[in-house]
Amino acid sequence: MTTVALVAAGVHLAFIGVFAWAAVWPLAGANVASVLVYVLAHRLVRGEHPLLAVWLMALEVLVHSTAAVLAIGWDSGFHFYIMLIIPVVIVSALTSVQRKVAFAFAVGVFYVLLDWHFRQQAPVFSLAGPVLLALHYFNLVSMLLLLGLLCTVYFRMVKEAQRLLHVQASTDPLTQLFNRRAMRDMVQRECVREVPAEDVHTLALLLVDVDHFKRINDRHGHESGDDALLLIAQTLQDGLREGDQVARWGGEEFLVMLPATGVDEAVKVAERLRQRVAAQRFMGAAGRQPLSVTLGVAVRLPHESIDRTLARADQALYMGKESGRNRVVLAPEPEITTQN
Ligand code: GH3
Ligand code: MG
Ligand code: MG
Repeated sequence: MTTVALVAAGVHLAFIGVFAWAAVWPLAGANVASVLVYVLAHRLVRGEHPLLAVWLMALEVLVHSTAAVLAIGWDSGFHFYIMLIIPVVIVSALTSVQRKVAFAFAVGVFYVLLDWHFRQQAPVFSLAGPVLLALHYFNLVSMLLLLGLLCTVYFRMVKEAQRLLHVQASTDPLTQLFNRRAMRDMVQRECVREVPAEDVHTLALLLVDVDHFKRINDRHGHESGDDALLLIAQTLQDGLREGDQVARWGGEEFLVMLPATGVDEAVKVAERLRQRVAAQRFMGAAGRQPLSVTLGVAVRLPHESIDRTLARADQALYMGKESGRNRVVLAPEPEITTQN
């Protein structure tokens, strides 16, 4: 928006020179006013009033183009700019869709009426043929350039909106970690990733569950519970190696993915994370309170499904809870059944 306002101000600045040279002083004066309008629009956009800026610019284009066509005729091509109002109005953050369409329709009707009127009306000033021709093509090319600029701006807006949507769809709002869906996708991608033959093509999953979290909520309130979750999320993230990922898997559960990691290393990482969380204190109702987590570790077996690996990590987590919490438990490998 700021770019559009600046380019438009620049175009009008050029017109001041053109009309001063052609001695059409009313239009030279009108362009001075337009430059001021666009400078104001620029300031409005910067001052977080983009809607006002859109209205101001649309009004300027409408009034100025009509006045210019009245003064020097339809062939000058100043009416081209009126058409630019339609995409600006439709894409802008203006109120309702119905109002946008109604406004754009009104601009269209106005344009057609203007065309019809000026086919029968001689202009106030008659410019020399070559000057008029030069103006016509200047306006046509300027309008096309502005149209291209608008399309680029709108394309960027759509891309940015897509990016934001993607971030929102894959982020947990409380902890800002990846959410379950994003983590499932990452784990799936990791499983099918091509790796050099000499690398370990396995991955370890750590299921992390906060100990007695219900008690934390009950004793210190839900808000303190949220703070504790946030602290654990940060602690887990800070404790990971490059390439490892952590996500909020459910209420007070996190899933850590360690690519290309075998059993010994996975247990080592899990133990480090457990110790880091145990060293943290969150602010509860009665001052700083300790925290702990239990971790179930499973390393994916060849051809094992992700759900199966996850189920084994969950089983290990359960064993950890049963045997007293605040510990790391490695999932037992499934027994191989042989048929006689
Ligand atoms: P255990 O040690 O066996 O895991 O016990 P626990 O109390 O942690 O487990 P339980 O499954 O009984 O309770 C989990 C609690 O986590 C219950 C639920 O209200 C709470 N919880 C889930 N999501 C959130 C959240 O986003 N914020 C807060 N404050 N609490 C949450
Ligand atoms: Mg749980
Ligand atoms: Mg728990």
